[in-house]
Amino acid sequence: MSELKSKPASKPASKLGNSGDVFYRSVFTDSGLAPREAQLSMMACIDQALENNSIAVIEGGTGVGKTFAYLLPVLTLLSQEENLNLRVVIATATVTLQEQILKKDLPEILTMFRKSLGEKNPENNLDNNFPNISIEIAKGRGRYVCPQRLYGFHGSQQGDLSLYGIGEEESENNFKNKKNSKNNAQDSEIIDELQEKLSLGAWSGDRDELDQIIPQSLWSGLIAETSTCSNRRCSYFSECPYFKVKKNLSKAKLIITNHDLLLSDLALGSGVLLPELANTIYIIDEAHHFPQKTLGQFESETLLLGSKLWLRSLETYLPKWQQELKSSAGKLAECQKNIENLKINLDLLYQELEKFWGNSEEYFLFENMMGDSGEDLREKIILVLKNSQSIGAYLSEFHGELVQTQDKEIADFEKVVGLLGILIKKNYSLSRTLEMFLIPDQEPIAKWMTFNQELSVKKQDFILHAAWMTASELLKQFFWGKIKRPVILCSATLRTLGSFESYLKKAGLEADPRVSSQFFISPFNYQESFLNIPNMKNIPEGAESEKYVQEVIENIKNIINKNIENNKNIGGVLVLFASQKLLQEVLNNLEDAQKKFVLYQGQESKMALLSKHHENINKNIPSILFGLQSFSEGVDLPGKYCTHVVIVKLPFAPPTSPIERAYQKWLVTQNKNPFREHTLPEASLKLTQAVGRLIRRDGDVGEVTILDHRMMRKFYGKMLIKSLPNFKLNI
Ligand code: SF4
Repeated sequence: MSELKSKPASKPASKLGNSGDVFYRSVFTDSGLAPREAQLSMMACIDQALENNSIAVIEGGTGVGKTFAYLLPVLTLLSQEENLNLRVVIATATVTLQEQILKKDLPEILTMFRKSLGEKNPENNLDNNFPNISIEIAKGRGRYVCPQRLYGFHGSQQGDLSLYGIGEEESENNFKNKKNSKNNAQDSEIIDELQEKLSLGAWSGDRDELDQIIPQSLWSGLIAETSTCSNRRCSYFSECPYFKVKKNLSKAKLIITNHDLLLSDLALGSGVLLPELANTIYIIDEAHHFPQKTLGQFESETLLLGSKLWLRSLETYLPKWQQELKSSAGKLAECQKNIENLKINLDLLYQELEKFWGNSEEYFLFENMMGDSGEDLREKIILVLKNSQSIGAYLSEFHGELVQTQDKEIADFEKVVGLLGILIKKNYSLSRTLEMFLIPDQEPIAKWMTFNQELSVKKQDFILHAAWMTASELLKQFFWGKIKRPVILCSATLRTLGSFESYLKKAGLEADPRVSSQFFISPFNYQESFLNIPNMKNIPEGAESEKYVQEVIENIKNIINKNIENNKNIGGVLVLFASQKLLQEVLNNLEDAQKKFVLYQGQESKMALLSKHHENINKNIPSILFGLQSFSEGVDLPGKYCTHVVIVKLPFAPPTSPIERAYQKWLVTQNKNPFREHTLPEASLKLTQAVGRLIRRDGDVGEVTILDHRMMRKFYGKMLIKSLPNFKLNI
């Protein structure tokens, strides 16, 4: 079950003196639980990585019990006196898993751990902390309320950025939304309630602890973001939820965070919110998302003519602030000149971009920025960039002076810091995006522009976007090149087509000598369940595409009818579609008698749909869920809630998005085959995730039906089947 450099399990460095296997077994048996063999093997593999200071890439199939498999070894390690300086950071892809680890898995495992050490009534000690191991959860600033903004909300009538005089004309959605929420009585009620809860100590300020739903448009005007934060100078600093958490984090030994926060901490050089790299062991759970999350951290976009709006704010406020702060007038004059030039150069760049846009509809992809055809464009970009960089340098210096101010009276200090922060951020987005546009074509960076649809004809504008297409170099630079301690990357799906190769390449680990990769097969018995591949006449390609859709409709109708007829023993059906268009087409062609049992994505929130589905099945009412990609992962429908998974069309990503198109073209320039290198492995991963919705617990049985006969006709079909769990094949 292992590949590459795996070695036999060795003893963990446990102060308890037991071998790892014996000790871990005893933790389970002392609690009256039977340990799972695959889980014990995974623990041995983690012990080995901890001992060898290596990077372990581990796939643990559904039911292996991955979370316990890493928690027990790291808790053992942290409980040892000689490891007092050691810290462990667990990073998940979602806040949901973060909460699950903190509220469910850790209390359970800590109780077991205490029991095995002879503690009496360990379940009564629910403080989530073990001697020597303090545990904290770390979320991004966006999850915490900023009391300064919350309490100032009514005073400003908006509680958002436009109280500073900018944003009124902003075209970006968030500003629009905030503006729409102005004078909204409902928002006002929510604010009153939040203010009361926070001041009475009934709420910590963490959004995830609230029962009520806060509209995102309102919440985004209340968050503790860096750009509007005056830090120690803020009158709410001592009671600020974010800074309280930050203080606790500095003492915590075990921190549960998410990929985004870990990555942004790494991008800032590490040690900003999370512990510094030197003494930290990292566990990256849901690691299949890690490369993609990395890309998200390094994306950049900017409005072009829209930049003039915040430049106008700069022109208005800078002289006033400069006077109050008695800052250097000479530098201000230079900055003002740069602002003037920037406005002119933005117009010139806009005119140049219009030539490229031509008749484009959704977006325009820049493919040859460095060639002759891009010369004029590069020239205009450089002009804008130079102005923007000079303004950025001035603003940073000014910000530094402002926050150092101790004895000078600045009216509305907190507001000034907030506004300045926003202006710095906007200018940075402009210069960062343009810098990325000037990176040579051979680097894997997608550069494209969209037309801002939301603006009136008078204010039409381009948005420039730039994004890295592979995370490997970024991770090497920010993470792998700097770590000093072991890293564990784990997930239920890391291998594609039976190999770790594609994942290791995406993560930048393919040539790292510290890496070992292992997989542990799910303990579930898949041979009790079926994988059906009906003999369809048409495939979803070329001339057969239309007829394929008709065949899909007939197949799904039959599946629904069969489910309705089996009214004594109803089991849930999950139908996964590759596109909204196809989902809608099938839905439109169902008869009313069938449609009434269908719940489809988009009808209500995902949570509401799943809850209705549970209700129906509990009442023995047929329930067929139609979903897209987001239902292929993280949806847990054990037992009767899902006895049939139907996959309509293999999940090959269509090369329509700008990043996907750019990446495929870039792979060709690298003499690589985009289908074999990228499209097929990605589809294999998605297919495995989709199929994984069927068997969730020991004893689950059912069937998976793949409505795509390319599984039998194309060369890759066998490879895909081989990479799936060992179902009974029905073809
Ligand atoms: S310290 Fe910053 S985040 Fe906290 S209340 Fe003050 S301004 Fe808001």
